[in-house]
Amino acid sequence: MQKKCDVVIIGAGVVGLSTGIALLQSRPSLKVMIAEKEKELALHASGRNSGVIHAGFYYSPDSLKAKFCRDGNFELRKLAKKYGIPVKDVGKVVVARNEDEDSRLGTLFDRGIANGVELEIHPEEKLKDFEPLAITHNRFMWSPNTGISDSISIVNAMRDEFLSLGGEIQFNSKVNLTESHGEIHDSSNQFTFKHVVNAAGAQADRISRSVGVGTEYAMLPFMGVYRATSEKNLPLQRLVYPVPHPINPFLGVHFTLTIDGKVKIGPTAIPIAGREQYSFTEGWSGSDIAQALKGMRSLITGDSHDFGAILKSEWPKIIQKLLVKESTELVPSAIGVKDWHRKPPGIRAQLVHLPTGKLEQDFIVVSQANATHVLNAVSPGWTSSIPFGRYLADEFILQRVMN
Ligand SMILES: Cc1cc2nc3c(=O)[nH]c(=O)nc-3n(C[C@H](O)[C@H](O)[C@H](O)COP(=O)(O)OP(=O)(O)OC[C@H]3O[C@@H](n4cnc5c(N)ncnc54)[C@H](O)[C@@H]3O)c2cc1C
Repeated sequence: MQKKCDVVIIGAGVVGLSTGIALLQSRPSLKVMIAEKEKELALHASGRNSGVIHAGFYYSPDSLKAKFCRDGNFELRKLAKKYGIPVKDVGKVVVARNEDEDSRLGTLFDRGIANGVELEIHPEEKLKDFEPLAITHNRFMWSPNTGISDSISIVNAMRDEFLSLGGEIQFNSKVNLTESHGEIHDSSNQFTFKHVVNAAGAQADRISRSVGVGTEYAMLPFMGVYRATSEKNLPLQRLVYPVPHPINPFLGVHFTLTIDGKVKIGPTAIPIAGREQYSFTEGWSGSDIAQALKGMRSLITGDSHDFGAILKSEWPKIIQKLLVKESTELVPSAIGVKDWHRKPPGIRAQLVHLPTGKLEQDFIVVSQANATHVLNAVSPGWTSSIPFGRYLADEFILQRVMN
């Protein structure tokens, strides 16, 4: 079937949906279609994340993440309210495990303040007033605006918002880009468009490479494994995070809470081969393995990160006992909990810049005449999605479509 659109968006995750919403809010007469390869929503990162509404203090002030996370926090809450989705204002404590982390806490605080985020630093003795189960070395940081919600409910709300504005979603629609101008195909439809947005999450680099964009990157997926228990077993009231590693990009083993009363440890960031490899028996792909190996080789030879340290610290956490043991550096009583169970893992699709071996930290947008590619939509992409979608619409798409 032939479908004539102004804009086709590849991928109905939070980035694709937010972009569609922003386009239609701005120009209600546009015909916007999202092609989604799965038969339903939220099967990948947007529905498999921690559900943390980040405040925006981790990111370098000149980054897109810093630009969108703080405002996204506010806008995600607004969307949740409109659709009756619970949000809990649990806040976050960032604790130091040693002197070195204590000194880096100050840098993290300054960065957050530069990003316009509300933060406080307190001495160790005050931690019991915020989170009595956590421990710290000398000081801790308090982020009152970090919250939690349910990731799948948010995706569903975005779908409802997009559809109510007149957008359409075509499920079971796996598309790819070719150099052919202004059309793409799935197995049964042909979509013609003025502009195409590649918001395919972990697959976005594959699609961009097929038209010669982003060839300087390789995709290295990192598996995020969680262990969860009931709040009754471990009555934490706040999210508890360590000070992040100075050069490696992940946040370290931490505690999050879920809207339905669970306490989770994780996610880990274990390098794996497949970007949809949610278990050892599914998601294997030769081309994913080749990409991941390329990415690992470049990381090892580059000097931007300590890949050996990532491997050494992350792989053992696949063993529950070791994961829980490490978490006790933040919350000692976690050791007494016996019934930890697995939660569905998520996969962080992280791009490696091949010439330098650098794990890209920020969202990357490459826009050409009739195509915009969103690469490396990593955390906090869920929190940032609403202003990020508006930025994509305003900066790269609307003008080209309206001309
Ligand atoms: C373990 C983990 C924890 C995280 N925790 C948080 C958190 O607490 N807070 C936060 O703000 N962020 C978090 N994030 C980050 C956040 O989840 C992502 O940044 C965000 O979901 C990315 O959205 P997306 O739309 O780009 O990708 P996705 O949700 O992956 O959507 C992409 C969609 O494109 C579809 N697609 C792919 N290829 C094709 C094709 N060829 N044709 C058609 N469709 C296609 C896929 O099926 C998918 O539905 C976390 C991520 C992970 C992995």
